[in-house]
Order: sequence, then C-alpha cells, then structure tokens
Amino acid sequence: MRNVDKFLLHRSGWLLALAACLVIGMVARVAPAAAQDGAAAQPGTTTIHIVQRDENLFRIALRYGTTVEAIAIANGIADPRSIAVGQRLLIPNAQPGSVGALTTHTVAPGDTLQTLLARYQTTAQALAAANNLCNPNLLYIGQQLVIPAGAGADGSQLSGAPEAVHIVRPGQNIYRLAVQYGIPAYRLAAANHLAWPAPLFFGQTLRIPGVPASEHAADLPYPLVDAQFRPLPVVQGRTLGIHLVTDGPATISGTFMERPLRFATHDANQHDAIFGIHALARPGIYPLTLAIDATNGQRAEVTFRVQVEAGGYQAEQIVLTAEQNALLDPALTGPEDETITRIMSGFTTRRFFDGMMGLPSTGAITSQFGTRRSYNQGALSTFHTGTDFGSGPGAPILAPAAGTVVMAEALPIRGNATIIDHGWGVYSGFWHQTEIKVKVGDIVVPGQVIGTVGSTGRSTGPHLHWELWVGGTPVDPLQWVQQSFP
Ligand SMILES: [Zn+2]
Repeated sequence: MRNVDKFLLHRSGWLLALAACLVIGMVARVAPAAAQDGAAAQPGTTTIHIVQRDENLFRIALRYGTTVEAIAIANGIADPRSIAVGQRLLIPNAQPGSVGALTTHTVAPGDTLQTLLARYQTTAQALAAANNLCNPNLLYIGQQLVIPAGAGADGSQLSGAPEAVHIVRPGQNIYRLAVQYGIPAYRLAAANHLAWPAPLFFGQTLRIPGVPASEHAADLPYPLVDAQFRPLPVVQGRTLGIHLVTDGPATISGTFMERPLRFATHDANQHDAIFGIHALARPGIYPLTLAIDATNGQRAEVTFRVQVEAGGYQAEQIVLTAEQNALLDPALTGPEDETITRIMSGFTTRRFFDGMMGLPSTGAITSQFGTRRSYNQGALSTFHTGTDFGSGPGAPILAPAAGTVVMAEALPIRGNATIIDHGWGVYSGFWHQTEIKVKVGDIVVPGQVIGTVGSTGRSTGPHLHWELWVGGTPVDPLQWVQQSFP
C-alpha cells in the first residue's frame, strides 16, 4: 500500500434509509443521454443487462450476439465465472433486435403513471408485470422501467422519440399550456381531438405535439414548469445537478438527504443546485422537497422520491502498526479535519467553473475515490475522499478549473495543501505538495500551475491527492472531467 493517504478519514453518522418496493428490471436498453450529460451523449443506444439467477456470461453473450471476451473486457471482469445476480453488465455491440433487448424509461421529475401509460400506450397491469412492481403508482426518480414489448395496438409508438404528456392541474387552460410548451393553442387542441374552444379539466392527460418527452416534465406544480436531474440514476459519491425553470422570477429552497439544497438563480427564472451524494449514504429512496416562491406571490411545494444507487466501490483492508494507529487518534486528526470541512463547505454565489474540468496531473491514477477502508480488521466506516495520481516529486499540479485560492499552507496531516473555491459550493483540494505556487486570494485559470507533487504531511510516497467537495460533501472528482455542470 504505497502512495495512498492512509490517514485521511471520513466518518458518517447521519444516514437514513426508507423502505422501498424492490424493482428489478431485467434488461435495460438506455439512451446515453439518460446516463450522462446531454452534450457528451453519443448517438445510438447502450445495452445494459442485469444478471438474473441461472445466467452465466456464455448465455448472456449468446443472447446478445456478442462474445464472452467482449463483455468481460467492457466490464473489466478478470474471471468470467465470477458474475453476481443483480450485477449490471454493459453489452458491447449488442445485435439490434436481439432477444430480450427491451426499451426502458428512466423515471424523471414530473413523470407519473398516467403520463407513462399515455406516452407508451400500455397498461398499468402490463407495466407492473414487466417490472415486478408492487404498486405502479409509487414511482421514483432514477427508476429504470422496462417498457413491455408490443405495448399498444401495433407497437409503433416505440419507434421514434416519444412525445411529452401533460396532466392538467387546477388553474391551467389551453392558452397557458400553449405558452408553456411554445406551440400554438389550436395545435394542442387538434393533437388531442378537443372541440374548440377547448375547456380542460383537472387531471386530464394531454399529448404535447412536437415536444420530445425527455425535454419537459409533465406533472409539476405551477409556477415550476421544468425540472431536470442530471445524471440519472443518482449514485453514492457522485454529483447531482438539478436544473429548474419557473414561469417568471422566483426563489427556490429545498432539502435532500437531510441537507439543504442551495439554488443559484440566473436569468430570473433559471435555477441550478449542485449536490454531492455522500459516498457512504445508504442506497434507497429519499424524499427531495422543493419550495418555490414566485415574486408574484404564488407558492408551490413539491416532493420527489429519488432513488440513490450504490456506487460499486471497492473495499480494502489496511494493517497499521501500533505507532501508525496512534496517528489516527481523532484528537490529532480532528482539528485539521474540522478546518478542511469548514472551508470546503462554503458557498460562493459567483460561478468560476465552466464546462468540464481538466485533470490536475498527467500522472497515472493510483487510487480511486470512494474505496472503503478498514483499519486493522475494523468496520468499513471510512473511505478514500479523493483521487490519487502517481507522479514524481516536483511534477506540476494544474488547476482543473478557474477559482479563487482560499487556503495555501502547510498542515500536519495533508502536508502542503491548497484549496480552490470554484463557486456554487464546489471546492478542490490538493494535498502533500512539495511546493505551493499560489497564495490566498489569487484567482487561478484552468491549467495554471498551482504547485508541485510531493510527499509532505502523512504520506507514504510522492503523489497528488485531488479532492473535490460539492455542497459540503467530498465526491468523485473524475465525474467532473467527464461531464459538465450545471
Ligand atoms: Zn488520496
């Protein structure tokens, strides 16, 4: 165990889990846009297979017209005999139309049973049967639903982009909806075979012609007109971006996983919150509550049920000598941990980061974020709070994004440490440096050399530990070099 920070711990004690109705989707055929930032999405679809009882890689490969080797390589499987029931496998080059390749839908804010049944022309019974649902009315955000094959009269609704569906709420009329979706009122009436003038009733389901389903949420309380959570599903140790649009100026507050959601508002009616999911958060379904206060006095509250999935992190055992173990004493580590937590839990309303972040080092990644750690056979109650890069001493450290330097000093555990505030509650930390090349108050640009790699503090060899905090929680930094927020 070299080049890792054996002494950087993070404890959790606030976890909450809600009982959930278990759902097992058999085969998922998902659009990449559902799983990552839209701008980075590639054309086509990715096939994901969830391993069932009595399956092995040979049978799965046969089913999709691919090979055991191709699946093993795509999923980093060293031993093809060791796959587990419930494991998700990426199926490379699945043959179109191969047996069991079904359409799936990832439940997004605003989806309801009514909107899904209307969109896919299927029945609650068929949907429940295809997904082993105990209660099809209890949907949650991030849930992947298998859409029953051959749903509807001819199945034709499964081709092409499904259209948005809207469920009429009190106070809504056809003119207001026409404005909301940017289409003429007469077109909306015609698409739904409504007589003119078209009175609407509460709970009525309307098809929204020409508006792709993924772009508009259907059932949101006015003045909230759009809500997007990216990426879905929501995963432990990763960042969730929440984008809301209101009809006119509004302020928004909210909570998720017993922590406040902080929204930055721009252009009066666009609201973004960036939230870090704790790496040790218990997988399950959590309420996400929003309060929307429009400046015209209208107020709405809404609660979404959001599924948090396991991150699939590795676990490792670390054996420490009595002398090393003594260094883990909270009395020694506590004050420094508290300082770091206080600084990296701040919130600056100015946003410095823009687009994807760059890597802070050209060195190879030697230790991933999120690996659970047990010391001397103890509980797996700590985890690696950053990403380690193995570089020689003196190698440059680059700012991954723009920001303001808010700490640049020597610490007993983290060594020469720099913290950059990127704005909107996003902070970067760089530990164990040989030399710090910035000072507090400096504004850095992406790619700027801010220091050099070293082994200062409690480190077992030269390496860079890069830590990224979002909303007061350390998250996987590498997600930010693969997708942009908001
Ligand atoms: Zn580290």
